[in-house]
Amino acid sequence: YEKVETLNKTTDGHYVIKTTKNKYYTHSVIVATGFYDTPRLMNVPGEHLPKVKHYYDEAHHYVGQKVLVVGAANSACDVALETYYKGAEVTMAIREDKIYEKVKYWIRPNIENRIKEGSITAYFNTTVKKIKEKEVILDTPAGQLTLENDFVLAMTGYLPDYPFLKKIGIAINDDETQTPQMTPQTFESNLPNVYLAGVVQAGLNTSKLFIENTRHHGEIIIEQVLKKLERV
Ligand SMILES: Cc1cc2nc3c(=O)[nH]c(=O)nc-3n(C[C@H](O)[C@H](O)[C@H](O)COP(=O)(O)OP(=O)(O)OC[C@H]3O[C@@H](n4cnc5c(N)ncnc54)[C@H](O)[C@@H]3O)c2cc1C
Repeated sequence: YEKVETLNKTTDGHYVIKTTKNKYYTHSVIVATGFYDTPRLMNVPGEHLPKVKHYYDEAHHYVGQKVLVVGAANSACDVALETYYKGAEVTMAIREDKIYEKVKYWIRPNIENRIKEGSITAYFNTTVKKIKEKEVILDTPAGQLTLENDFVLAMTGYLPDYPFLKKIGIAINDDETQTPQMTPQTFESNLPNVYLAGVVQAGLNTSKLFIENTRHHGEIIIEQVLKKLERV
């Protein structure tokens, strides 16, 4: 594996890409960096304690543990159910007043019923205020609540790596979705011969694109690249 660090245009209109291992000279570049490398942080004290995870690994660490799951979208619901079924004591802190409407249709009734029957405790309209070694403090509609806690699984979503995109020169639209600028028919960015593929195209609208509706990106981009190379 190697991380791309810089992308610079050469005087002959090509690009030099510098990675952690090598340098590459190329006519075209496809940026398909997704968004899973940058978790959406809660920005609360204690978030950087080792017991706070922004990536879920597997349930066995949490057996018999007091787990706070933050969020109410697909990942949060999956994680809450899986850790509960493996024997964790699960509490959810949910910013909204209900489980996210787009949670998969076979997961949503399951999580709602576990909450209704009291197997999983959910605090709605609630945010995390502070995380300590053995406790979490929640801001609930009824006031601040301190809970004993062993792990926080913050399933709060992810963001495209904007510092990286900006560093390599990709322009970002200045609106609420902050999508990288590109020509919709060709997926070419503001940089000539630099294309955007995959979920990075959707900016902050991270639930818009997924595997099934991005499969054609590669084909469109390669067609463009070949057309341009024929002209070189
Ligand atoms: C638990 C889970 C379940 C999912 N289930 C489904 C499903 O059932 N169906 C579905 O359609 N989608 C599903 N998805 C979503 C799916 O995984 C994504 O839509 C898809 O992976 C996006 O592909 P991508 O190539 O755009 O980005 P990614 O798969 O995120 O790939 C981006 C790659 O770029 C690399 N990268 C980033 N920055 C750099 C850099 N500077 N230098 C070098 N490399 C870099 C990253 O390390 C990564 O390998 C799921 C996601 C999760 C987390």
